[in-house]
Amino acid sequence: MPSSAPTLRRITVLSGGVGGARFVQGLLHGLRTGVVPGGSAATEVTVIANTADDWWIHGLKVCPDLDTVMYTLGDGIDVERGWGRREETWSAKTELEAYGVEPTWFGLGDRDIATHLVRTQMLEAGFSLSQVTEALCRRWQPGVRLLPMTDDRVETHIAIADPEAPSGRRVVHFQEYWVRLRAEVPAETVLVVGQDAATPAPGVLEALGETDLVVLPPSNPVVSVGTILGVPGVRDALHATPAPVVGVSPIVGGSHVHGMARQLLTSIGVEVSAAGVGAHYGARSGGGVLDAWLVDEGDADQVSRLEETGLRARAVPLMMTDHDATAAMAAAAVELVSGATA
Ligand code: GDP
Ligand code: CA
Repeated sequence: MPSSAPTLRRITVLSGGVGGARFVQGLLHGLRTGVVPGGSAATEVTVIANTADDWWIHGLKVCPDLDTVMYTLGDGIDVERGWGRREETWSAKTELEAYGVEPTWFGLGDRDIATHLVRTQMLEAGFSLSQVTEALCRRWQPGVRLLPMTDDRVETHIAIADPEAPSGRRVVHFQEYWVRLRAEVPAETVLVVGQDAATPAPGVLEALGETDLVVLPPSNPVVSVGTILGVPGVRDALHATPAPVVGVSPIVGGSHVHGMARQLLTSIGVEVSAAGVGAHYGARSGGGVLDAWLVDEGDADQVSRLEETGLRARAVPLMMTDHDATAAMAAAAVELVSGATA
């Protein structure tokens, strides 16, 4: 490890679900094994998670991104599926279907339901989502401080074309767009309901202001990182933080690795490329939120274009194939802003 690297006491990550969780898992691995310059097992990591995917279903409050981070880091995730609990069973879902209860396309596993029952009961008893998340994490011990972006209800909806609707379009909840429609129909508009009136959850602004590094992991730029940045106060906190801000591209070679970033970037008019997303976030020197942006080695030809926008940029392998590969990505992100590159 280069001795010139500044000590990283605290790192703050803005995360969606699967991409963000896997990145943080690799980051923690890299901190423990000493490959992240300036970091160590003592580095405190705070994860601010997107909550705009949340919804109420069968009377339960479900928070997919918070749970994906919690289960992934707490070793309870179904690794193959990428979401939900390992060794899951589906009896409750089958019984609901037998009653003809809609929607039948959203899978809630039996083990997972226990999490949603605890959460829903605590919310109904008057606890905030932050307090509930802290309580759930007492079981899972994710090794990070996990904060929802806000305690307020914020939900992403997607407008799609529907020739049968009088207006020619229909607005569906993010979960319907993703799970039922599999993001196969073009998204016309992304509406983040409740966002303007939301306030950052306790600890969010402090975690951005009082940290040694902020990382935007390879999470969806529109419906994960974009919704966190849209909570009033968060973007300003990123502008103001004395810590460097570095991001990792979720777009590799002209498309997303998994998910639907391509469809949603198109709907907001952003070029689907590593450079397009980097420029969309923008350099802090030009009013954006980033100081540096990592792109995949296959997108190396985009580095100079990014540098022209005022960002530090570098091309390295960005596929999270295992913990070591992901730890190397985290190390490269730190090196890019600490000047510790060999
Ligand atoms: P979600 O909430 O479960 O959709 O998860 P996130 O928003 O955190 O992450 C989804 C993003 O992660 C997608 O845009 C993917 O392209 C990206 N992603 C997933 N796996 C990888 C990977 O191995 N490398 C990179 N660079 N991006 C990835
Ligand atoms: Ca998500």
